[in-house]
Amino acid sequence: MPAPLITIAEARQRVLSAAAPLGTEQVAIDDARDRVLAADLTAAGDVPPFPCSAMDGYAILPGDAERTLTVVGESRAGTPSSLVLGEGSAIRISTGGAIPDGATAVIPQEDVETRDGTIITRAVVNAGDHIRGAGEDMRSGETVLRVGAKLGAAELGAAVAAGVAELTVYRRPRVQVLCTGDELRAPGEPLGPGEIHNSNAPMLDALAEAEGAIAGTARRLRDDPAATEAGLAAALDSADVVIVTGGVSVGPHDHVKPALAALGVEEVFWRVALQPGKPTWFGRRGAVLVFGLPGNPVSAVVTFSLFVRPALAALQGRNAEPMLETEAVLATAVRRNPDREQAVRVRLERRNGTLLATPNGPQGSHIVTSLLGADALAFVPAGEGELEAGAAVALERLPR
Ligand code: AMP
Ligand code: MG
Repeated sequence: MPAPLITIAEARQRVLSAAAPLGTEQVAIDDARDRVLAADLTAAGDVPPFPCSAMDGYAILPGDAERTLTVVGESRAGTPSSLVLGEGSAIRISTGGAIPDGATAVIPQEDVETRDGTIITRAVVNAGDHIRGAGEDMRSGETVLRVGAKLGAAELGAAVAAGVAELTVYRRPRVQVLCTGDELRAPGEPLGPGEIHNSNAPMLDALAEAEGAIAGTARRLRDDPAATEAGLAAALDSADVVIVTGGVSVGPHDHVKPALAALGVEEVFWRVALQPGKPTWFGRRGAVLVFGLPGNPVSAVVTFSLFVRPALAALQGRNAEPMLETEAVLATAVRRNPDREQAVRVRLERRNGTLLATPNGPQGSHIVTSLLGADALAFVPAGEGELEAGAAVALERLPR
């Protein structure tokens, strides 16, 4: 008698309890994109480092309009002027140019008239006009980024501005995908009787990489106890996360569970009240996490999304990125499953201010095309009859 099905939330909770952040490493800025910061980052100095001009114009002293000032030098971005500005003079300045000693304001060039080496000011100028103060953006020693920050464009820009060249980040999980099935053939290989192409392999490698993992090329395992055990043993020795598809049901050729048991992988759960994805298996050997995902391609992608993706994020010290929208309205009725919550692939569309979720074609777990153009998973709770059009449904990201 197998254990009762557990809920999606319970299964995810058990996965996250087993997924502690991996170690850290130092990487150069160019290798830090999309990584997760593992130590707070502080500014090495003030940013901007010196007071500078916000405009192309002239560094001057404050005063009334209609002054005639002699232009005595220039401060360009990267080439400050060494002059000290005095009464009656002006120093030409570019945006980003250092404010010369003695100057306390900038007048934009569109507010002056130039004549024979002089300028005539056509506006009143107050102290501090058009000057960016040192440290306005960051103060020396200030915390700019915190542990857990995902290093996108803004974070990398801020880190470099803060004077940093190397960042402490979490190690990327090494993922090995194993696809079980005597029927599976490589891309483009001619199919013999009863054979199909292995579509799980490229999908899961792509999804794992998109979540920040380093995916070794997926391997195929024959439906044979010894081959299954040998393939799993090698993966367990080299990866942080092993994802095996197929072979976790109760058929006579499903060898994954016994092989994992023989290799000392401890079962955390098997079978979730989820459609598609009921036979999902999860276990661990020490810090290595093992996911047994159903063989059907849609089930594999849905269960990757619900269970593997949050684990890969947690191993890198962050949360899986949520959707901007967490709820939508069903556009068409969906027949409920009496025992299992359904994760329906939907397209999302806003109409008259309402976010509508439309099932993306037939929902069979073998219909790979139901993943094409799908925007999200919408959850239909277990129950009798149908969930009617207009009902609110929770959404989750469906990674691509
Ligand atoms: P299984 O979980 O091994 O019983 O497989 C369930 C269904 O998914 C069967 O129809 C398999 O042929 C199919 N299947 C299993 N693995 C793959 C794969 N890697 N790519 C495409 N279909 C698969
Ligand atoms: Mg199989």
